[in-house]
Amino acid sequence: MKKNSLAPETLAAQALRHIDEATGSVVPPMLATSTFARDENYDLREGYIYSRYAGPTTTHAEEIIAALEGSDDSLLFNSGMSASVAVVEALPPQAHVVAQGMMYHVGLQWLDRQAARGVISLDHFPAGDLDALADQIQPGKTKLVWIETPANGDWSITDIAAAAELAHAAGAILMVDSTAAPPCTQKPLDLGADISFHSATKYMGGHSDFTAGVLSARTDLHIWDEIRNVRSFQGTILPAFEAWLLIRSLRTLHIRYAACSSNAMAFAKHFAAHRDIETVLYPGLPTHPSHHVAANQMHNGFGGMMSILINGKDNRAFEMAKKTELFIPATSLGGVESLIEHRRTVAGPDSGIPDNLLRISIGIEHIDDLIADFEQALGATAHLG
Ligand SMILES: *Cc1c(COP(=O)(O)O)cnc(C)c1O
Repeated sequence: MKKNSLAPETLAAQALRHIDEATGSVVPPMLATSTFARDENYDLREGYIYSRYAGPTTTHAEEIIAALEGSDDSLLFNSGMSASVAVVEALPPQAHVVAQGMMYHVGLQWLDRQAARGVISLDHFPAGDLDALADQIQPGKTKLVWIETPANGDWSITDIAAAAELAHAAGAILMVDSTAAPPCTQKPLDLGADISFHSATKYMGGHSDFTAGVLSARTDLHIWDEIRNVRSFQGTILPAFEAWLLIRSLRTLHIRYAACSSNAMAFAKHFAAHRDIETVLYPGLPTHPSHHVAANQMHNGFGGMMSILINGKDNRAFEMAKKTELFIPATSLGGVESLIEHRRTVAGPDSGIPDNLLRISIGIEHIDDLIADFEQALGATAHLG
């Protein structure tokens, strides 16, 4: 069977039909080495020189992700942050960058610092607002538009195809942080984006046992070689063991994401109608302000991420995050276990996150247990209602 006739689920489940030639091992081997011996002619055997540049296990994981993203190439990094930072470092000096005002808060902090140091110039726009984005883009000067959809905080949605048009008309490239929507549901490159970016720590990894980041693009992207150079200089490539865990994880990406999505939809519907809840911010709900845009660009579920605004006194949400028994009070997202977070405490008072917001990452546990636990936490804080 030809690989290119196979569905992404099939390619991922069988790690691109890999069977080890020598041993028949169904699981790809992990090759952990820092350096590669040359052959008798002093030539490189398979192009590998030194593990700060590339290694076979990491390359294998990159090939799987490229197949899922529909990209020419993918580059894995040792965290989502090191991946996204490499894009900005590959831009020409003094580049103008436009980024959302609300997105993953550490990415935002890093951009603000680069701007404060004069390395880039930076403007923000409210997530999802294409008119405001158009106003911030400076033709000929803007080099990078950075969007995140669905976006951390309120899970607002930006129309990727429309943002790509705006960026391209001004001579800029579009990077989409698609962490909350892995390629089994959203493929930014197909919608015109230049770079698809994921914190692979989240859904791609899915088991909360390592950090990773990945960029995918067409190889004719003018800064692609420079991004690879940045990774080689900085040594931010994903090491073999984590790449091996990631290959393991990608085998089940489609079913994990489907399970998180159906659990989250049931959870969101249950609590959207609850008298103790002000709003459930979940792009899968028809009441979400940009549900139609989400439905247009997320083809296989809306994922497990939502924010829930709690009715009652200011500190009720914070108290609830301490009262859940099943939801684990930890940051991060996209794992098989459900997490709860009082986001304002984590992202800081300048983040614009309301005090009554709980960020929830729904996992693959039984939906009845998840609903019962959240009900129980609402009950335990009823005196603050
Ligand atoms: C976690 C996250 C990042 C950063 O990734 P790390 O792997 O933690 O470095 C970037 N964007 C989004 C949307 C995230 O959730």
